[in-house]
Amino acid sequence: MASAEKPAHFLQQLVAADIAEGRVQHVVTRFPPEPNGYLHLGHAKSICLNFGLAEEFGGSCNLRFDDTNPEKESQEFVDAIQRDIRWLGFQWQGEVRFTSDYFEQLYLWAIELIRAGRAYVCELSAEQARAYRGTLTERGTYSPWRDRPVEESLDLFARMRSGEFEPGAMSLRAKIDMAHGNINMRDPVLYRIRKAHHHHTGDAWCIYPSYDYAHGQSDAIEGITHSICTLEFEDHRPLYDWLIDNLPVPAKPRQYEFARLNPNYTVTSKRKLRLLVEEGHVEGWDDPRMPILAGMRRRGIPPQAIRNFCDMVGVTRANSVVDIAMLEFAIRDYLDKEAARAMCVLRPLEVLLQSDGELPASVAGANHPNRDELGSRDIAFSARIYIETDDFREEANKKYKRLVLGKRVRLRHACVIEATGVEKDAQGQFTRVLARVVEDSFGKDPADGNKPKGVIHWVSEQSQPCEIRLYDRLFLDEAPDAGGKDFL
Ligand code: ATP
Ligand code: MG
Repeated sequence: MASAEKPAHFLQQLVAADIAEGRVQHVVTRFPPEPNGYLHLGHAKSICLNFGLAEEFGGSCNLRFDDTNPEKESQEFVDAIQRDIRWLGFQWQGEVRFTSDYFEQLYLWAIELIRAGRAYVCELSAEQARAYRGTLTERGTYSPWRDRPVEESLDLFARMRSGEFEPGAMSLRAKIDMAHGNINMRDPVLYRIRKAHHHHTGDAWCIYPSYDYAHGQSDAIEGITHSICTLEFEDHRPLYDWLIDNLPVPAKPRQYEFARLNPNYTVTSKRKLRLLVEEGHVEGWDDPRMPILAGMRRRGIPPQAIRNFCDMVGVTRANSVVDIAMLEFAIRDYLDKEAARAMCVLRPLEVLLQSDGELPASVAGANHPNRDELGSRDIAFSARIYIETDDFREEANKKYKRLVLGKRVRLRHACVIEATGVEKDAQGQFTRVLARVVEDSFGKDPADGNKPKGVIHWVSEQSQPCEIRLYDRLFLDEAPDAGGKDFL
């Protein structure tokens, strides 16, 4: 991760200090996706950060599905997420974990909170609870159920679990402080009734822990040393700490926040990406235009290019917009260094070659301009070849380095040609260029000293036809979801 040129980011510094000062022996991080969609570019940043820190400091990184929302989650997403993390080149420690594996423990801890007078069963409706919560400027109102006897809450909570009540009839809430300046501390909901089938636990449960209740305790169960999340959870940290302080958890994880990856010309919100899929604006989650890892894979983007991009954008605590051109640069830069070359013509213009000598049936071309180990290939050659329509002009000034009528150009890996004529259709469009092969110019400069400046690519009529799919950015708008703007 940290290279010689690049200074360590704040989380690298923080983890290094924790180790140096003996607060942490073995670093344990985790990537905690909710299986309610495919992974996007923003997740890649979090994956690179969590797995990267573990790798760098000789620790480990868990994969834990935060699966507390059965209606929105599915096995399809569980599978796709694992595939995409592996594709990026990371491997989690041990088995895949699920928050739902801890449901029994979380339930038992909830009972402890009730026993300690720190949680109660509340029968306010969702709407009432919202009204009682107050606002940023006004304190909340105490629920009439807040001081019900502990025994009563214990009994009701057990009956909630056994399925006696309907969704919305009651919830379990922490008893903290309805006047707290942080709304997350105003008696937040710990459990809700949900009669939903769960992709991992089936019908075993009809009450589900809230994300806020499950998250920190799951980290504690797994012995996570650095619970890394995005900045919007900063305001939830006091609640996580309160729960950890009030429960007999086996470890005390600490949370650190960093700024989300927020690229322009795209959206990285699963809710909005899901809309694009469900409303048919794209072909699916893995549509090659989507900022979804599975789509980027289909588009041919190498995983290392995405990792390089994440490294380039760095990790900070300041929210900012990243130019998507940086990703495009990272992709080109990686492909330029690593990819074997091939020639392909997108908008073909026929060129008929005339030669005094016999033309070779093929020419050899290096697969990479400066990586000999990538070898070379035989490229079919013939009298009829195709060049890009844009690579020919009847007249041009000196800046144009491609083929011009009466002038010369080099065909990459082959010979120098000189355009001697052009044929056009009724609309004046070029239909064929006639050209002469300059004698003895295969792999050499012409003997007459008239050396062309430009080199163009071409294919022979013997070359493989292929289907080319060209994709541009999905959004023309630089900020498709700025200020809550509805882009659909
Ligand atoms: P979304 O807003 O797309 O639904 P999320 O945070 O709800 O994202 P999760 O599946 O919960 O989705 O995310 C798993 C992890 O990925 C979380 O730790 C989250 O902080 C991180 N993450 C999600 N989006 C980004 C982003 N744009 N940049 C960096 N990290 C992100
Ligand atoms: Mg989330």
